[in-house]
Amino acid sequence: MRLILLGAPGAGKGTQAKLLEKQLHVKHISMGDILREEMKNNTALGQEVKKYVESGGLVPDEVVTKIIENRFQDPSIAQAGYLLDGFPRTAKQAEDLDVILTRINQPVDYVVYMEVDSEVVIQRLTGRRVCRSCAALYHVKNMPSKQEGICDACQGELYQRPDDNEETIRKRINVYLESTTPIIDYYKKKGTLLTVDGNTDAEKLRDELLTIFKEDGKIDTSKNKK
Ligand code: ADP
Ligand code: ZN
Repeated sequence: MRLILLGAPGAGKGTQAKLLEKQLHVKHISMGDILREEMKNNTALGQEVKKYVESGGLVPDEVVTKIIENRFQDPSIAQAGYLLDGFPRTAKQAEDLDVILTRINQPVDYVVYMEVDSEVVIQRLTGRRVCRSCAALYHVKNMPSKQEGICDACQGELYQRPDDNEETIRKRINVYLESTTPIIDYYKKKGTLLTVDGNTDAEKLRDELLTIFKEDGKIDTSKNKK
Protein backbone atom coordinates (compact mmCIF):
# COMPACT_ATOMS: atom_id res chain seq x y z
CA MET A 1 0.00 0.00 0.00
CA ARG A 2 1.29 3.46 -0.90
CA LEU A 3 -0.24 6.44 0.86
CA ILE A 4 0.13 10.17 1.36
CA LEU A 5 -1.56 11.88 4.30
CA LEU A 6 -2.58 15.49 3.73
CA GLY A 7 -4.16 17.92 6.15
CA ALA A 8 -3.66 20.99 8.31
CA PRO A 9 -1.32 20.92 11.29
CA GLY A 10 -3.31 19.08 13.97
CA ALA A 11 -5.47 17.21 11.45
CA GLY A 12 -4.13 14.02 13.02
CA LYS A 13 -1.74 12.88 10.29
CA GLY A 14 0.95 11.68 12.68
CA THR A 15 -1.49 9.83 14.94
CA GLN A 16 -3.23 8.20 11.96
CA ALA A 17 0.10 7.32 10.34
CA LYS A 18 1.24 5.50 13.46
CA LEU A 19 -2.03 3.52 13.62
CA LEU A 20 -1.99 2.61 9.93
CA GLU A 21 1.69 1.72 9.95
CA LYS A 22 0.96 -1.07 12.45
CA GLN A 23 -1.87 -2.51 10.35
CA LEU A 24 -0.40 -2.11 6.90
CA HIS A 25 3.29 -2.74 7.70
CA VAL A 26 4.32 0.13 5.46
CA LYS A 27 7.33 2.44 5.86
CA HIS A 28 6.15 5.53 7.71
CA ILE A 29 8.06 8.57 6.53
CA SER A 30 7.28 11.60 8.69
CA MET A 31 9.01 14.76 7.50
CA GLY A 32 8.42 16.52 10.83
CA ASP A 33 9.94 13.59 12.78
CA ILE A 34 12.95 13.45 10.45
CA LEU A 35 13.60 17.18 10.86
CA ARG A 36 13.19 17.06 14.66
CA GLU A 37 15.57 14.09 14.86
CA GLU A 38 18.19 16.04 12.88
CA MET A 39 17.70 19.04 15.20
CA LYS A 40 17.96 16.86 18.29
CA ASN A 41 21.25 15.40 17.04
CA ASN A 42 22.45 18.87 16.08
CA THR A 43 23.57 17.73 12.62
CA ALA A 44 24.43 20.21 9.87
CA LEU A 45 20.99 19.60 8.39
CA GLY A 46 19.39 20.07 11.82
CA GLN A 47 21.13 23.43 12.24
CA GLU A 48 20.06 24.49 8.78
CA VAL A 49 16.35 23.77 9.28
CA LYS A 50 15.94 24.87 12.93
CA LYS A 51 15.00 28.48 12.24
CA TYR A 52 12.24 27.47 9.82
CA VAL A 53 10.77 24.73 11.98
CA GLU A 54 10.77 26.73 15.22
CA SER A 55 9.18 29.79 13.62
CA GLY A 56 6.46 27.72 11.91
CA GLY A 57 7.68 28.54 8.41
CA LEU A 58 8.49 25.99 5.71
CA VAL A 59 11.91 24.49 5.16
CA PRO A 60 13.03 25.21 1.55
CA ASP A 61 11.65 22.77 -1.03
CA GLU A 62 15.11 21.59 -2.24
CA VAL A 63 16.09 20.57 1.30
CA VAL A 64 13.01 18.46 2.08
CA THR A 65 12.78 16.98 -1.41
CA LYS A 66 16.41 15.82 -1.14
CA ILE A 67 15.55 14.09 2.15
CA ILE A 68 12.62 12.28 0.51
CA GLU A 69 14.71 11.30 -2.48
CA ASN A 70 17.28 9.74 -0.15
CA ARG A 71 14.61 7.87 1.81
CA PHE A 72 13.23 6.36 -1.37
CA GLN A 73 16.64 4.82 -2.07
CA ASP A 74 15.67 2.23 0.52
CA PRO A 75 14.87 -0.89 -1.54
CA SER A 76 12.48 -2.26 1.11
CA ILE A 77 9.98 0.48 0.20
CA ALA A 78 9.14 -1.35 -3.02
CA GLN A 79 8.30 -4.39 -0.92
CA ALA A 80 6.52 -2.79 2.04
CA GLY A 81 4.98 0.33 0.52
CA TYR A 82 5.11 3.76 2.13
CA LEU A 83 3.08 6.23 4.11
CA LEU A 84 4.16 9.84 3.63
CA ASP A 85 3.18 12.24 6.40
CA GLY A 86 4.08 15.94 6.11
CA PHE A 87 5.31 15.71 2.54
CA PRO A 88 4.44 17.16 0.06
CA ARG A 89 3.50 20.54 1.50
CA THR A 90 3.86 22.78 -1.57
CA ALA A 91 2.95 22.47 -5.27
CA LYS A 92 6.65 22.24 -6.13
CA GLN A 93 7.15 19.35 -3.68
CA ALA A 94 4.10 17.56 -5.13
CA GLU A 95 5.45 17.87 -8.67
CA ASP A 96 8.94 16.74 -7.69
CA LEU A 97 7.48 13.83 -5.75
CA ASP A 98 5.61 12.70 -8.86
CA VAL A 99 8.87 12.62 -10.79
CA ILE A 100 10.56 10.56 -8.06
CA LEU A 101 7.65 8.10 -7.74
CA THR A 102 7.40 7.66 -11.50
CA ARG A 103 11.13 7.01 -11.71
CA ILE A 104 11.03 4.27 -9.08
CA ASN A 105 7.69 3.01 -10.37
CA GLN A 106 5.93 3.28 -6.99
CA PRO A 107 2.83 5.40 -7.73
CA VAL A 108 0.62 6.39 -4.84
CA ASP A 109 -2.63 4.47 -4.22
CA TYR A 110 -4.38 7.17 -2.21
CA VAL A 111 -3.83 10.70 -1.08
CA VAL A 112 -5.87 10.82 2.11
CA TYR A 113 -7.00 14.35 2.84
CA MET A 114 -7.97 14.77 6.49
CA GLU A 115 -10.36 17.71 6.75
CA VAL A 116 -10.56 19.25 10.20
CA ASP A 117 -12.20 22.25 11.94
CA SER A 118 -9.92 25.06 13.06
CA GLU A 119 -11.08 24.99 16.73
CA VAL A 120 -10.17 21.30 16.84
CA VAL A 121 -6.72 22.08 15.45
CA ILE A 122 -5.93 24.67 18.13
CA GLN A 123 -7.23 22.42 20.91
CA ARG A 124 -5.21 19.45 19.68
CA LEU A 125 -1.95 21.30 19.10
CA THR A 126 -1.92 23.33 22.33
CA GLY A 127 -2.41 20.10 24.33
CA ARG A 128 -0.04 17.92 22.30
CA ARG A 129 2.92 16.22 23.96
CA VAL A 130 5.64 14.27 22.16
CA CYS A 131 8.07 11.63 23.41
CA ARG A 132 11.66 12.85 23.16
CA SER A 133 12.93 9.32 22.52
CA CYS A 134 10.42 7.58 20.24
CA ALA A 135 8.26 10.48 18.94
CA ALA A 136 5.04 8.85 20.20
CA LEU A 137 2.17 11.36 20.34
CA TYR A 138 -0.04 12.23 23.33
CA HIS A 139 -2.55 14.86 24.28
CA VAL A 140 -2.99 16.11 27.84
CA LYS A 141 -6.80 15.64 27.63
CA ASN A 142 -7.68 13.54 24.57
CA MET A 143 -4.87 10.96 24.79
CA PRO A 144 -2.99 11.29 28.08
CA SER A 145 -0.07 9.02 28.94
CA LYS A 146 -0.64 6.70 31.90
CA GLN A 147 1.94 8.54 33.96
CA GLU A 148 2.11 12.28 33.51
CA GLY A 149 5.12 13.39 31.46
CA ILE A 150 6.31 9.84 30.71
CA CYS A 151 5.91 7.85 27.49
CA ASP A 152 3.83 4.66 27.82
CA ALA A 153 5.82 2.95 25.09
CA CYS A 154 9.43 3.66 26.12
CA GLN A 155 9.39 5.61 29.42
CA GLY A 156 10.95 8.55 27.57
CA GLU A 157 10.31 12.14 28.62
CA LEU A 158 7.31 13.91 27.09
CA TYR A 159 7.76 17.49 25.96
CA GLN A 160 5.80 20.24 24.28
CA ARG A 161 7.13 21.18 20.85
CA PRO A 162 8.38 24.79 20.80
CA ASP A 163 6.23 25.41 17.71
CA ASP A 164 3.07 24.24 19.54
CA ASN A 165 2.37 27.63 21.09
CA GLU A 166 -0.68 29.65 19.96
CA GLU A 167 1.22 32.26 18.02
CA THR A 168 3.28 29.76 16.01
CA ILE A 169 0.25 27.52 15.52
CA ARG A 170 -1.58 30.44 13.87
CA LYS A 171 1.40 31.04 11.64
CA ARG A 172 1.53 27.33 10.67
CA ILE A 173 -2.18 27.36 9.83
CA ASN A 174 -1.67 30.38 7.58
CA VAL A 175 1.31 28.74 5.90
CA TYR A 176 -0.84 25.65 5.37
CA LEU A 177 -3.71 27.64 3.84
CA GLU A 178 -1.37 29.51 1.54
CA SER A 179 1.14 26.85 0.48
CA THR A 180 -0.41 23.44 1.05
CA THR A 181 -4.11 23.71 0.18
CA PRO A 182 -3.37 24.20 -3.56
CA ILE A 183 -2.06 20.63 -3.73
CA ILE A 184 -5.45 19.27 -2.63
CA ASP A 185 -6.81 20.37 -6.01
CA TYR A 186 -3.76 18.96 -7.75
CA TYR A 187 -4.51 15.47 -6.39
CA LYS A 188 -8.25 15.89 -6.90
CA LYS A 189 -7.59 16.42 -10.60
CA LYS A 190 -5.33 13.37 -10.71
CA GLY A 191 -8.15 11.32 -9.18
CA THR A 192 -6.19 9.95 -6.21
CA LEU A 193 -7.76 12.11 -3.49
CA LEU A 194 -9.75 10.46 -0.71
CA THR A 195 -11.33 13.05 1.59
CA VAL A 196 -12.11 11.97 5.16
CA ASP A 197 -13.30 13.67 8.34
CA GLY A 198 -10.26 14.45 10.49
CA ASN A 199 -12.46 15.49 13.43
CA THR A 200 -13.33 11.82 13.91
CA ASP A 201 -11.70 9.81 16.69
CA ALA A 202 -8.39 8.41 15.37
CA GLU A 203 -9.15 4.71 15.81
CA LYS A 204 -12.58 5.05 14.25
CA LEU A 205 -11.06 6.85 11.29
CA ARG A 206 -8.41 4.15 10.94
CA ASP A 207 -11.15 1.50 10.76
CA GLU A 208 -13.04 3.52 8.16
CA LEU A 209 -9.90 3.80 6.05
CA LEU A 210 -9.10 0.10 6.34
CA THR A 211 -12.65 -0.72 5.23
CA ILE A 212 -12.24 1.45 2.14
CA PHE A 213 -8.85 -0.09 1.31
CA LYS A 214 -10.33 -3.57 1.63
CA GLU A 215 -13.39 -2.78 -0.47
CA ASP A 216 -11.10 -1.43 -3.17
CA GLY A 217 -9.08 -4.64 -3.04
CA LYS A 218 -5.96 -2.76 -1.99
CA ILE A 219 -5.21 -4.93 1.02
CA ASP A 220 -5.36 -8.64 1.60
CA THR A 221 -8.04 -9.21 4.25
CA SER A 222 -6.62 -12.58 5.25
CA LYS A 223 -3.39 -10.98 6.50
CA ASN A 224 -4.62 -7.66 7.87
CA LYS A 225 -7.06 -8.17 10.68
CA LYS A 226 -8.63 -5.12 12.26
P1 ADP B 1 2.49 19.76 11.85
O1 ADP B 1 1.86 18.94 10.76
O2 ADP B 1 1.95 19.49 13.20
O3 ADP B 1 2.55 21.22 11.55
P2 ADP B 1 5.14 18.57 11.30
O4 ADP B 1 5.80 17.83 12.40
O5 ADP B 1 4.64 17.84 10.14
O6 ADP B 1 4.01 19.43 12.01
O7 ADP B 1 6.14 19.72 10.77
C1 ADP B 1 6.79 20.60 11.64
C2 ADP B 1 7.55 21.66 10.86
O8 ADP B 1 8.57 21.03 10.05
C3 ADP B 1 6.75 22.51 9.89
O9 ADP B 1 6.12 23.59 10.53
C4 ADP B 1 7.85 22.95 8.91
O10 ADP B 1 8.64 23.98 9.45
C5 ADP B 1 8.73 21.73 8.81
N1 ADP B 1 8.31 20.84 7.69
C6 ADP B 1 7.77 19.60 7.83
N2 ADP B 1 7.48 19.06 6.62
C7 ADP B 1 7.85 20.00 5.69
C8 ADP B 1 7.81 20.06 4.27
N3 ADP B 1 7.30 19.06 3.53
N4 ADP B 1 8.25 21.18 3.67
C9 ADP B 1 8.76 22.19 4.37
N5 ADP B 1 8.82 22.21 5.71
C10 ADP B 1 8.38 21.13 6.37
ZN1 ZN C 1 8.54 7.02 23.77
